[in-house]
Amino acid sequence: MQIFTDIRSASSHARNLCQRQVLVPTMGALHRGHLELFRLARELAGQEGEVIVSIFVNPLQFAAGGDYGKYPRPEAGDAALCQQAGVDVLFRPATAEMYATEPSVFVEETELAQTLCGKSRPGHFRGVCTVVSKLFNILTPDVAIFGEKDFQQLAIIRRLVRDLNFEIEIVGAPTVREEDGLACSSRNQYLNVAEREQAPVLRRALLRAKDGGTSAAEVLKKTREMISAAPLSRIDYASIVDAESLQPVSLIDENAVLAVAVFFGQTRLIDNIRLR
Ligand code: AMP
Repeated sequence: MQIFTDIRSASSHARNLCQRQVLVPTMGALHRGHLELFRLARELAGQEGEVIVSIFVNPLQFAAGGDYGKYPRPEAGDAALCQQAGVDVLFRPATAEMYATEPSVFVEETELAQTLCGKSRPGHFRGVCTVVSKLFNILTPDVAIFGEKDFQQLAIIRRLVRDLNFEIEIVGAPTVREEDGLACSSRNQYLNVAEREQAPVLRRALLRAKDGGTSAAEVLKKTREMISAAPLSRIDYASIVDAESLQPVSLIDENAVLAVAVFFGQTRLIDNIRLR
């Protein structure tokens, strides 16, 4: 595995290679969810192609006072996991390398980013779109993989690629879960024992919503009740939206997605489910 920390060598490596290159952007603190994305990347790249993983905790997508400072950064462990997973290239730039000058140009999606997490975390998707555009420009992959766990992010990245004409195929990967149904997340390690015990209520509530009829209002009411029954939970949002427009729907059809964001203590967890 080759590790690049500077943009120039990562970029010239990527440009001098003719084989299919598949990128998996991450913020590190790797877990089974990430490893599944790496496995899919190898499948799409083939043995001849190249799997590229980026690890960068992007300050631009964190709110002031958010968890940017304490976000876990287990560098050596992450590199070992990449190596074991058969990753070909690890791109791990320092913050000063990615943002060498004070940036005055940003990439902003102005429609899909107005709802759900975009509403609760102003500026978050501007940070995501900006850093993903930079990674696409630096690494010029043929394919990039994003997890369906971050369902709004995936929709916004598809829009970014469409509207800015990146010649990159975007592939969504199913959510990987712990045995009790909690979606794997780098932030799960912030949960204390009691919070961790209660967090799987998210998955149970989402599964229950699947056979809750066609009225979005009724399904949302039951979902909120079920989540709120966990004493340590605090709902940020629970919404039923159209999978493409991300606009709320009142009638549940085959495009309806139930998306939730719930705090357990200081930790904000997200999850979603296709209702049909
Ligand atoms: P992160 O490191 O949290 O920014 O995540 C990097 C990529 O991994 C994103 O595309 C996420 O959607 C994806 N991802 C995170 N958790 C999971 C999971 N449990 N299952 C599948 N993909 C995931």
